[in-house]
Amino acid sequence: MPVKKFVGSREWSDLPRIEAQSLRWGFYWEFHRPRRYFYLGIPESGKSELNESIALRHPKIWDIYGSKDNEGLCWCRESSGLDDILLVHGDNTDVDCSWDTCKVQDLAMRNLDRYEVVITSHAFYSSDTKKYNGVELLADQGYERKTWRPGDIIYMVMRETMNVLFAKIAMGLNEKDAKAALLYLFREIRHFGFSVGADSLRWTGIDKEFRDLADYTIFKRLGEKGLPREKWFMYQYIAPPIFALMPINRFICLRVDGAISMGWNQHVPCHKEEGVDLLAELGIRVTHGLEAKDSTAMFVGDDEHVKIIELYLKIGTTRGVARALVPKRSNSTVAGQIQRHNQEILERGQCRSCQIAAPDHAKILVKSPGELAREAATTPALNHPTPAEAIQRP
Ligand SMILES: [Zn+2]
Repeated sequence: MPVKKFVGSREWSDLPRIEAQSLRWGFYWEFHRPRRYFYLGIPESGKSELNESIALRHPKIWDIYGSKDNEGLCWCRESSGLDDILLVHGDNTDVDCSWDTCKVQDLAMRNLDRYEVVITSHAFYSSDTKKYNGVELLADQGYERKTWRPGDIIYMVMRETMNVLFAKIAMGLNEKDAKAALLYLFREIRHFGFSVGADSLRWTGIDKEFRDLADYTIFKRLGEKGLPREKWFMYQYIAPPIFALMPINRFICLRVDGAISMGWNQHVPCHKEEGVDLLAELGIRVTHGLEAKDSTAMFVGDDEHVKIIELYLKIGTTRGVARALVPKRSNSTVAGQIQRHNQEILERGQCRSCQIAAPDHAKILVKSPGELAREAATTPALNHPTPAEAIQRP
């Protein structure tokens, strides 16, 4: 009886098939080594399905550079054959589902390395900035994987590589630094036992240095543009119409040493179909917390509001609070915040700013300066209560 071959918890013979026929110099794959795969093809040419199929040939998968349609959640479908799944989400977001979840702030490589699949998805963040931060933090954890066994490769799925660049630019890097950072990841992450599968719609969408690093350049249907000039030598082996028109299950692969193969790949059963909402299908419920607003010169943000309430509870005068704040605010601004805090509690049951930034204070009325002054005038006691002592609970 033949010995069963496993990859992670999956049986090799159950994986969607990939066949590659060598056309030049004896082509073979090296799924047991950290390698870089670069996929090129027009939309709907089957790039991401082949990327997923190659991902399945690795013991572990990180699907963290996803698109807005949450395609990466496809691994949660039963048909993927994967069960050790971790969903990583923003600090301000709750994800209710039947898989393990982890907040970005709690990430640690030793925990991540226990899972077959780590996914983070667009829906798991309350804003684009939070998503970009989250993805960056997660990718950075990869560099913490200082020890790994031979063959224990994590395959990082990078869906639409241009989006990774945009994300880095949105994080405040200029275009040159963003490209350098992406290049660094593509070049260096292999030392930590990672393979990367990056796909792109356009040959020139990705810089030459990046493309040249690919160990496997995989061409899906290229349409009328055909091969880029520097790869025209491949037309000696495969006719141009094949590159232009190949069906969705076909591919041509050029290995870094010049070996060429022509192949076909079977449909990946868990692959997301167009127009499907995976969150609804998988019963994943996502709730985002309220977003804290930042202060400006003209506007008191949520964190500063909480600071004002806390200082007032300690100091007891608006003047004292106004002076203690950095940057300083006027007495009337401080008084306005105290008034708003109380008013919102009386009207809505709690203060919105405190609810976001300091839930302990959200339902506690604070005595106003006027009330304190009136009490001081009518109370013979020598020790006037500070607002903290004078707190009323509704
Ligand atoms: Zn408040």
